[in-house]
Amino acid sequence: MTTSTRLTSLSRSVAGHRVLVTGAGSGIGRATAHLFADEGASVAVTDLDGDRAERVAAEITGAGGSARAWPLDVADAAAVDRVMAETVAHMGGLDVLVNNAGIPAGAPIESADYGDTWHAALDVMLTGMTLTIRAAMAHLRASAAGRVVNVSSTEGVGGSPSTSAYTAAKHGVVGLTRALAVELGETGITVNAVGPGPIDTGMTAGIPDEAKVKFARRRVPVRRYADPEEVAHGIVHLALPASSYITGHLLMVDGGMTVKNN
Ligand code: NAD
Repeated sequence: MTTSTRLTSLSRSVAGHRVLVTGAGSGIGRATAHLFADEGASVAVTDLDGDRAERVAAEITGAGGSARAWPLDVADAAAVDRVMAETVAHMGGLDVLVNNAGIPAGAPIESADYGDTWHAALDVMLTGMTLTIRAAMAHLRASAAGRVVNVSSTEGVGGSPSTSAYTAAKHGVVGLTRALAVELGETGITVNAVGPGPIDTGMTAGIPDEAKVKFARRRVPVRRYADPEEVAHGIVHLALPASSYITGHLLMVDGGMTVKNN
């Protein structure tokens, strides 16, 4: 923008953009797939649970949007490469990669199954992101507005009892995001993360309502759990062409939880 122009033409639209979302069969991923589609993007709805992915893609196409489902385990390197190739062939390229797939992964450090929990948490929520990003790189480079958005957590900046595997993975997501933002800066591909607080999704469905209300009143300034859609808006914001100078950022979508002192 020069002194003679009011604004440049940075686009606030993802219409026509090609988007792949992992773990899109439920919760935050599902809301993100819906929101991108509502904004006119083509969406590859991928999830470990292929039936869930099919349902979400059908919801989107039923509402007039553009989507197709793929079963995908993000921890399976060969499957990631194959699905990336198929989705890119189907959509004609890739502009936005949303790394959202996640699992609860809670276990005390002394528990017998800690090793399994650790490996599952890291494989799905951290190594899986490197697999999808590596598979996406050539396509994101070819895009006019390549964007990677990784889903971390409030556990990406703090910790809770019995969540060390999950917390380590989510801190890792923040480090991965920052390092790749630096490494890929000159490509124009931005790499950012969102840090959701407590959200009403499949992952938190087992927590009794009473416990959710009590927790939110005590810990969250906004005093409630959020709807997954509220996180999806943060993700879409970071994926806009106009968000071209935002990279390496962790956008907390936590109702103020991580800035609350008392
Ligand atoms: P969710 O359980 O509703 O959805 C997670 C989806 O990921 C499921 O559909 C599941 O099948 C899929 N998934 C699991 N393992 C997978 C794998 N190996 N490959 C591909 N897909 C896989 O949960 P959600 O809350 O929407 O979780 C989405 C992301 O948000 C996760 O990364 C989670 O850690 C993060 N998060 C959630 C909260 C919360 O309060 N719900 C808070 C902070 C961060």
